[in-house]
Amino acid sequence: MIQLPSDFIQQMVSLIGETEFQKFQDAIQTERITSIRTNENKVTGNVNNATPVPWCKNGFYLNDRPVFTMDPLFHAGCYYAQEASSMFVEQAVRQHWDSMEENEPLILDLCAAPGGKSTHLVSLLNGRGWLVCNEVMKSRIGILNENITKWGASNVTVTNNDPKDFGQLNGLFDLILIDAPCSGEGMFRKDDKAIEDWSLDNVQLCCERQRRIVADVFPALKEGGLLLYSTCTYNEEEDEKNVHWIEENLGAEILEIKTKDDWNITTQGAGYHFYPHKTQGEGFFLAVLKKTTEESTTKIKTPKQISLASKDISTICTKWLTNQDVKILQEGDKLTAIPNQWLDTQLFLKQKLRIVHYALPIGIVKGKDIIPDEALALSWILKQDQFTKVDCTWEQAIQFLKKENIILENISKGIVLFCYKNIPLGFGKNLGNRCNNLYPSEWHIRMNADKDKHTEIIDFH
Ligand code: SAM
Repeated sequence: MIQLPSDFIQQMVSLIGETEFQKFQDAIQTERITSIRTNENKVTGNVNNATPVPWCKNGFYLNDRPVFTMDPLFHAGCYYAQEASSMFVEQAVRQHWDSMEENEPLILDLCAAPGGKSTHLVSLLNGRGWLVCNEVMKSRIGILNENITKWGASNVTVTNNDPKDFGQLNGLFDLILIDAPCSGEGMFRKDDKAIEDWSLDNVQLCCERQRRIVADVFPALKEGGLLLYSTCTYNEEEDEKNVHWIEENLGAEILEIKTKDDWNITTQGAGYHFYPHKTQGEGFFLAVLKKTTEESTTKIKTPKQISLASKDISTICTKWLTNQDVKILQEGDKLTAIPNQWLDTQLFLKQKLRIVHYALPIGIVKGKDIIPDEALALSWILKQDQFTKVDCTWEQAIQFLKKENIILENISKGIVLFCYKNIPLGFGKNLGNRCNNLYPSEWHIRMNADKDKHTEIIDFH
């Protein structure tokens, strides 16, 4: 039985009343719910043994929690295991999309790791615009980068900056999502540590930190731009009071998100609460605001020098892509494909921010060869027929993802693309007697292969 701090109980009773609190307490004793969001740029099939999440087009509740590690399609970025309440971000974006003047919006996800909402935002962009996803903690950048790369969008930049570093980019972003670090009350069912760390003092500290974060990044939002503010906590200090503080002190108008009655979402006007006794999911809060204060606009200057790859290299690389409207940059031995229309913005951001990954890392120049990057294999714009494909069985796919060397019979020498159910997993270099596995070492599966633990989550039939 989960033991809740007495101050938390008092706070919740005053928020939702005694009767509701009893239901809340009963709900968090039950098993956590598993949900996923599929990547429609990779798979369009149904999901087995699942029911839809009503507020998210590609969101599904699974009847059981599978061992995701044993599903090659999980590693291929065909879906993301994400808590269902968080998928409500989709309603905020879809319903207010038109209020963003830009057809090709520039979006910032300020507190992005591990990448749940970033992968969602970039799917909602559906090839338009650009997403900058940022994480201040160095230790969390690796997982953010991995999840972004696996998802496969190439209109993304991953940065490792403090929120105040964005303050210099006045009026640059059309939408900023701040999924703020918080006291985590909504995670109590999932995470004992969240209960241990909770106190009224910590709520106050979180509230002050959240205000600092919003104030630091606010200049980077355009006048008329959208601010999505979310937490996974219930208290008013971090939620409604902060939203009103933004409205009054920074200058913004609170916007409505239309919901359906049977979604059971609670609102007092400043934002939308998900409670585990009312909706299937963990605790979550989201508000949308429109910036009403004037903002100067950062001028994007075209850099004087651009390190373009040679014509020969560019020709080879662009052949690998379905989008030909790109420049191939070469920095040292690293090749990156970047859409022409975003070149200036990205090079400008490179001067201002600590960039970890941007656009599509396409490969490495090694002597006369180009060794294709894992990001290319997983990309939405890979032209698969440019590579010799290896259609893996489940066993071979897991062997590949464990970074073991695989012997290929009757397959020509050179670069090969390992696929599972026609979905790329990564590259190998076939030498004839063996095939070097080019899967990134830091991502490889460490768990023992166990086919009994494999569940077919995506239904291809
Ligand atoms: N948006 C993520 C997702 O959907 O997967 C979850 C983000 S989590 C709620 C909050 C993030 O804020 C964490 O990754 C944490 O490292 C980061 N963070 C912690 N302190 C911060 C600060 N002072 N400024 C900005 N971000 C911070």
